[in-house]
Amino acid sequence: MIRVTVVGAAGRMGREVCRAALEDPELELAGGVVEPGSPDVGADLGELCGAGRIGLAASEEPPEDAGVLVEFTTPEATVEHLAYRLPAVIGTTGLSEEQRARVEEAARSVPIVLAPNMSAGVNLLLGAVRELAEKLAGYDVEIVEAHHRGKRDAPSGTALLLGRAAASGRGQRLEDVAVYGREGVSPRREGEIGIHALRGGAVVGEHRVIFYGAGEEVEVVHRALSRRTFAEGALRAARFAAAAKPGLYTMQDVLSSGG
Ligand code: NAD
Repeated sequence: MIRVTVVGAAGRMGREVCRAALEDPELELAGGVVEPGSPDVGADLGELCGAGRIGLAASEEPPEDAGVLVEFTTPEATVEHLAYRLPAVIGTTGLSEEQRARVEEAARSVPIVLAPNMSAGVNLLLGAVRELAEKLAGYDVEIVEAHHRGKRDAPSGTALLLGRAAASGRGQRLEDVAVYGREGVSPRREGEIGIHALRGGAVVGEHRVIFYGAGEEVEVVHRALSRRTFAEGALRAARFAAAAKPGLYTMQDVLSSGG
C-alpha cells in the first residue's frame, strides 16, 4: 500500500487529490497538511474534501510515515516543505528560477516529480506542439490560456511548458522569443512566440496553441473539464515517486514508465 500525504489539503486541488486518494484501493491517505494557523487545522480530512468523516485530522506538519507528499500550494510553501526531505510530487506552479533550483537541489537526495500539468493529454500535446513548430517553421505561434479568477500566477505553468515545446521545436529558448501580451505599438517580430492569459469565472484550464501561416491556420486545444484529471495524474506520479531513485522527474517520465 502506498501512503500519500496531501500538502495544501484545504485548497481546490488538495481537496480533489484527497477525494481521489480515498477512492483509490491501492493508496492510503496518510495525512493532509494545511496552512499553519488556518481554521482547517484539526478538521476531519474526509469532511474537508467532501468525502464524509474518516477520522483523520488535517495537521500543520506531515505525520510520521507520511509516504509521498503531493503538494499543491504556493511556490514559497513548496520550497519550505523541501526541508521534510520526503519523496514528493509537486504540482505547484509559478516557481521562480531560484525556487526551481532549490527543488533540483533537494532532488539529489529524494525522488521529486515536478509537473506544472499532471494531465496525460497536455503531456502528450507537448510532443505534438514540438513537432508542429518544427515542421511549420515559418508560421507565427501564439499561445492563449484561460483559467478561473482565483489563479495566482500568469501565464500558467502549462502555457510555459507549451511555449518551451514550441521553441525547442525550432531550436530556440523560450526566454529569447517569448512576448507576454501586447500593448501599444508592438509589431510582431520574426520568430516570436506570443503568450496571453485570460482570467475569469470557474474555468478549470484551457490552452490553445495556434500556428498562423499565410494560407492556413493550425490550432491545437486542450480543455481540462475537471480538476479530477490533475488529481489522478498526481496520484499516478505519487506511485512512480514511491518506487523511484532520488532525482528530478517530469510527468513525461511518469507516463513513459507506464505507471
Ligand atoms: P488554492 O489557493 O485553492 O490552494 C492552495 C492551498 O495551499 C490553500 O488552501 C492554502 O491555504 C494552502 N497553503 C498555502 N501555504 C501553505 C503551507 N505553508 N502549508 C500548507 N498549505 C498551504 O490553489 P489551487 O487551485 O489548489 O492550486 C494550487 C497550485 O497548484 C497552484 O500553483 C496551481 O497553479 C497549481 N495547479 C497545478 C496543476 C497541475 O496539474 N500541476 C493543476 C491545477 C493547479
